[in-house]
Amino acid sequence: MSTHDEIKQKMIIAGKILVAEGQDDFTRGHISFRLPDNPGLFFMKAHSIGLDEITMENILTIDLEGNVVAGNAKRHSEVYIHSEIFKVRPDVHCVLHTHPTYSTAFSATGRPIRAYSQGGAMFKNDLGTYTDTINLIRDHDMGRGVAKSLGPHRATMLKNHGAVVVGASIEETIISVIMLEEACKIQMIVEAAGDPAGEFSPEDVKVLQHNISRPEQFIVNFDYLARRVMRGGK
Ligand SMILES: [Zn+2]
Repeated sequence: MSTHDEIKQKMIIAGKILVAEGQDDFTRGHISFRLPDNPGLFFMKAHSIGLDEITMENILTIDLEGNVVAGNAKRHSEVYIHSEIFKVRPDVHCVLHTHPTYSTAFSATGRPIRAYSQGGAMFKNDLGTYTDTINLIRDHDMGRGVAKSLGPHRATMLKNHGAVVVGASIEETIISVIMLEEACKIQMIVEAAGDPAGEFSPEDVKVLQHNISRPEQFIVNFDYLARRVMRGGK
Protein backbone atom coordinates (compact mmCIF):
# COMPACT_ATOMS: atom_id res chain seq x y z
CA MET A 1 0.00 0.00 0.00
CA SER A 2 1.33 3.43 -0.92
CA THR A 3 1.88 5.99 1.82
CA HIS A 4 0.12 9.33 1.65
CA ASP A 5 3.37 11.01 0.61
CA GLU A 6 3.91 8.50 -2.20
CA ILE A 7 0.37 9.12 -3.49
CA LYS A 8 0.87 12.88 -3.40
CA GLN A 9 4.20 12.58 -5.23
CA LYS A 10 2.50 10.54 -7.94
CA MET A 11 -0.29 13.12 -8.24
CA ILE A 12 2.36 15.83 -8.75
CA ILE A 13 3.99 13.84 -11.57
CA ALA A 14 0.57 12.98 -13.05
CA GLY A 15 -0.25 16.70 -13.28
CA LYS A 16 3.00 17.41 -15.14
CA ILE A 17 2.34 14.52 -17.54
CA LEU A 18 -1.19 15.78 -18.23
CA VAL A 19 0.08 19.25 -19.15
CA ALA A 20 2.87 17.78 -21.31
CA GLU A 21 0.20 15.74 -23.10
CA GLY A 22 -1.96 18.80 -23.82
CA GLN A 23 -4.66 17.94 -21.28
CA ASP A 24 -4.48 21.38 -19.62
CA ASP A 25 -7.03 24.18 -20.05
CA PHE A 26 -5.83 27.15 -17.97
CA THR A 27 -6.28 26.07 -14.31
CA ARG A 28 -9.23 23.83 -15.15
CA GLY A 29 -9.17 20.09 -14.72
CA HIS A 30 -8.67 18.12 -11.54
CA ILE A 31 -7.38 14.82 -10.25
CA SER A 32 -8.21 12.99 -7.03
CA PHE A 33 -7.12 9.82 -5.28
CA ARG A 34 -8.90 7.88 -2.53
CA LEU A 35 -6.92 7.30 0.67
CA PRO A 36 -6.14 3.57 0.83
CA ASP A 37 -6.43 3.54 4.62
CA ASN A 38 -9.62 5.64 4.73
CA PRO A 39 -11.93 5.11 1.70
CA GLY A 40 -14.21 7.90 2.93
CA LEU A 41 -11.55 10.51 2.14
CA PHE A 42 -9.66 11.52 -0.96
CA PHE A 43 -6.78 13.78 -1.96
CA MET A 44 -7.56 16.39 -4.63
CA LYS A 45 -5.78 19.06 -6.64
CA ALA A 46 -6.61 22.58 -5.48
CA HIS A 47 -8.40 25.39 -7.36
CA SER A 48 -6.54 28.33 -8.98
CA ILE A 49 -3.41 26.38 -9.93
CA GLY A 50 -2.42 24.53 -13.08
CA LEU A 51 -2.28 20.75 -13.19
CA ASP A 52 1.51 21.14 -13.32
CA GLU A 53 1.54 23.24 -10.13
CA ILE A 54 0.37 20.54 -7.71
CA THR A 55 2.68 20.38 -4.65
CA MET A 56 2.81 18.35 -1.44
CA GLU A 57 1.49 21.45 0.35
CA ASN A 58 -1.49 22.39 -1.82
CA ILE A 59 -3.18 18.98 -2.15
CA LEU A 60 -6.47 18.99 -0.22
CA THR A 61 -8.03 16.14 1.77
CA ILE A 62 -11.79 15.97 1.18
CA ASP A 63 -14.64 13.76 2.44
CA LEU A 64 -17.38 12.10 0.36
CA GLU A 65 -19.74 15.03 0.96
CA GLY A 66 -17.23 17.38 -0.62
CA ASN A 67 -16.03 19.00 2.63
CA VAL A 68 -12.36 19.92 2.98
CA VAL A 69 -11.00 18.18 6.07
CA ALA A 70 -7.33 19.12 5.64
CA GLY A 71 -5.43 21.73 3.65
CA ASN A 72 -5.72 25.48 3.21
CA ALA A 73 -6.04 25.90 -0.55
CA LYS A 74 -9.30 26.63 -2.37
CA ARG A 75 -11.41 23.62 -3.39
CA HIS A 76 -12.68 23.09 -6.96
CA SER A 77 -16.45 23.69 -7.15
CA GLU A 78 -16.71 20.53 -9.28
CA VAL A 79 -15.57 18.35 -6.36
CA TYR A 80 -18.90 16.49 -6.67
CA ILE A 81 -17.71 14.74 -9.84
CA HIS A 82 -15.16 13.03 -7.61
CA SER A 83 -17.12 12.51 -4.39
CA GLU A 84 -20.21 11.07 -6.06
CA ILE A 85 -18.17 8.65 -8.19
CA PHE A 86 -16.16 7.50 -5.14
CA LYS A 87 -19.46 6.86 -3.33
CA VAL A 88 -20.80 4.42 -5.91
CA ARG A 89 -17.64 2.88 -7.38
CA PRO A 90 -15.59 1.14 -4.65
CA ASP A 91 -13.31 -0.20 -7.40
CA VAL A 92 -12.29 3.34 -8.35
CA HIS A 93 -9.35 4.93 -6.55
CA CYS A 94 -8.52 7.75 -8.97
CA VAL A 95 -10.87 10.22 -10.70
CA LEU A 96 -9.72 12.69 -13.33
CA HIS A 97 -11.56 15.45 -15.16
CA THR A 98 -9.96 17.38 -18.02
CA HIS A 99 -10.99 19.30 -21.15
CA PRO A 100 -8.97 17.56 -23.89
CA THR A 101 -9.54 19.14 -27.31
CA TYR A 102 -10.42 16.11 -29.44
CA SER A 103 -12.43 14.37 -26.72
CA THR A 104 -14.49 17.51 -26.20
CA ALA A 105 -15.00 17.94 -29.94
CA PHE A 106 -15.94 14.28 -30.31
CA SER A 107 -18.43 14.54 -27.43
CA ALA A 108 -20.25 17.23 -29.40
CA THR A 109 -20.93 14.80 -32.26
CA GLY A 110 -23.00 12.41 -30.14
CA ARG A 111 -21.42 9.46 -32.00
CA PRO A 112 -20.36 6.25 -30.26
CA ILE A 113 -16.65 5.54 -30.03
CA ARG A 114 -15.48 2.97 -32.56
CA ALA A 115 -12.53 0.60 -32.58
CA TYR A 116 -10.64 2.53 -35.26
CA SER A 117 -7.48 2.47 -33.11
CA GLN A 118 -6.17 0.74 -30.00
CA GLY A 119 -7.55 3.53 -27.85
CA GLY A 120 -10.88 3.23 -29.63
CA ALA A 121 -10.89 -0.50 -28.92
CA MET A 122 -10.19 0.14 -25.25
CA PHE A 123 -13.18 2.47 -24.88
CA LYS A 124 -15.62 0.73 -27.21
CA ASN A 125 -18.68 -0.21 -25.09
CA ASP A 126 -16.85 1.24 -22.07
CA LEU A 127 -17.70 4.93 -22.34
CA GLY A 128 -20.69 6.77 -20.89
CA THR A 129 -22.15 10.12 -21.93
CA TYR A 130 -23.42 12.88 -19.66
CA THR A 131 -25.89 15.14 -21.44
CA ASP A 132 -27.78 16.89 -18.62
CA THR A 133 -25.93 20.20 -18.98
CA ILE A 134 -22.87 21.94 -20.42
CA ASN A 135 -22.54 23.78 -17.08
CA LEU A 136 -20.16 23.17 -14.18
CA ILE A 137 -20.94 20.18 -11.94
CA ARG A 138 -21.43 22.20 -8.78
CA ASP A 139 -23.77 20.19 -6.54
CA HIS A 140 -24.43 16.67 -5.30
CA ASP A 141 -27.27 16.04 -7.77
CA MET A 142 -25.17 16.97 -10.78
CA GLY A 143 -22.31 14.85 -9.45
CA ARG A 144 -24.71 11.94 -9.08
CA GLY A 145 -25.75 12.49 -12.70
CA VAL A 146 -22.15 12.24 -13.85
CA ALA A 147 -21.62 9.08 -11.75
CA LYS A 148 -24.80 7.60 -13.26
CA SER A 149 -23.60 8.33 -16.80
CA LEU A 150 -20.27 6.69 -15.94
CA GLY A 151 -22.01 3.55 -14.67
CA PRO A 152 -19.55 0.64 -14.61
CA HIS A 153 -17.41 2.18 -17.37
CA ARG A 154 -13.83 3.41 -17.60
CA ALA A 155 -14.86 6.95 -18.59
CA THR A 156 -17.75 9.24 -19.36
CA MET A 157 -17.92 12.16 -21.79
CA LEU A 158 -19.42 15.37 -20.48
CA LYS A 159 -21.03 16.55 -23.71
CA ASN A 160 -19.45 19.76 -25.09
CA HIS A 161 -17.36 20.02 -21.90
CA GLY A 162 -14.71 17.32 -21.41
CA ALA A 163 -13.87 13.87 -20.13
CA VAL A 164 -14.13 12.12 -16.77
CA VAL A 165 -11.86 9.08 -16.53
CA VAL A 166 -11.52 6.70 -13.59
CA GLY A 167 -9.13 3.95 -12.63
CA ALA A 168 -7.87 1.66 -9.92
CA SER A 169 -4.58 3.56 -9.98
CA ILE A 170 -3.16 6.93 -11.01
CA GLU A 171 -1.21 5.17 -13.74
CA GLU A 172 -4.33 3.58 -15.24
CA THR A 173 -6.28 6.84 -15.14
CA ILE A 174 -3.58 8.97 -16.75
CA ILE A 175 -2.80 6.51 -19.55
CA SER A 176 -6.54 6.01 -20.15
CA VAL A 177 -7.28 9.71 -20.63
CA ILE A 178 -4.37 10.03 -23.08
CA MET A 179 -5.60 6.99 -25.01
CA LEU A 180 -9.16 8.35 -25.04
CA GLU A 181 -7.94 11.62 -26.54
CA GLU A 182 -5.94 9.78 -29.20
CA ALA A 183 -8.94 7.55 -29.97
CA CYS A 184 -11.20 10.57 -30.48
CA LYS A 185 -8.60 12.28 -32.65
CA ILE A 186 -8.15 9.22 -34.88
CA GLN A 187 -11.89 8.59 -35.16
CA MET A 188 -12.54 12.16 -36.21
CA ILE A 189 -9.79 11.94 -38.84
CA VAL A 190 -11.28 8.68 -40.15
CA GLU A 191 -14.81 10.09 -40.23
CA ALA A 192 -13.65 13.33 -41.82
CA ALA A 193 -11.89 11.29 -44.51
CA GLY A 194 -15.24 9.61 -45.12
CA ASP A 195 -16.34 6.11 -46.08
CA PRO A 196 -14.72 4.29 -43.13
CA ALA A 197 -14.16 0.56 -43.58
CA GLY A 198 -15.72 -1.82 -41.04
CA GLU A 199 -14.22 -2.52 -37.64
CA PHE A 200 -12.67 -5.83 -36.64
CA SER A 201 -14.96 -8.42 -35.04
CA PRO A 202 -16.18 -7.88 -31.44
CA GLU A 203 -14.20 -10.96 -30.36
CA ASP A 204 -11.00 -9.58 -31.87
CA VAL A 205 -11.57 -6.17 -30.24
CA LYS A 206 -12.22 -7.83 -26.88
CA VAL A 207 -8.85 -9.62 -26.97
CA LEU A 208 -7.05 -6.36 -27.71
CA GLN A 209 -9.05 -4.59 -24.96
CA HIS A 210 -7.77 -7.17 -22.49
CA ASN A 211 -4.18 -7.00 -23.73
CA ILE A 212 -3.85 -3.21 -23.53
CA SER A 213 -5.61 -2.72 -20.20
CA ARG A 214 -3.46 -4.88 -17.92
CA PRO A 215 -2.19 -3.00 -14.83
CA GLU A 216 1.48 -3.54 -15.72
CA GLN A 217 0.91 -1.89 -19.12
CA PHE A 218 -0.36 1.26 -17.43
CA ILE A 219 2.60 1.37 -15.05
CA VAL A 220 5.21 0.87 -17.79
CA ASN A 221 3.72 3.64 -19.92
CA PHE A 222 3.14 6.04 -17.01
CA ASP A 223 6.71 5.53 -15.81
CA TYR A 224 8.00 6.31 -19.30
CA LEU A 225 5.99 9.56 -19.44
CA ALA A 226 7.18 10.40 -15.91
CA ARG A 227 10.84 9.99 -16.96
CA ARG A 228 10.17 12.14 -20.01
CA VAL A 229 8.66 15.06 -18.07
CA MET A 230 11.34 14.83 -15.37
CA ARG A 231 14.07 15.29 -17.99
CA GLY A 232 12.17 18.23 -19.46
CA GLY A 233 10.82 16.47 -22.54
CA LYS A 234 7.43 17.06 -24.16
ZN1 LIG B 1 -14.70 20.92 -16.58
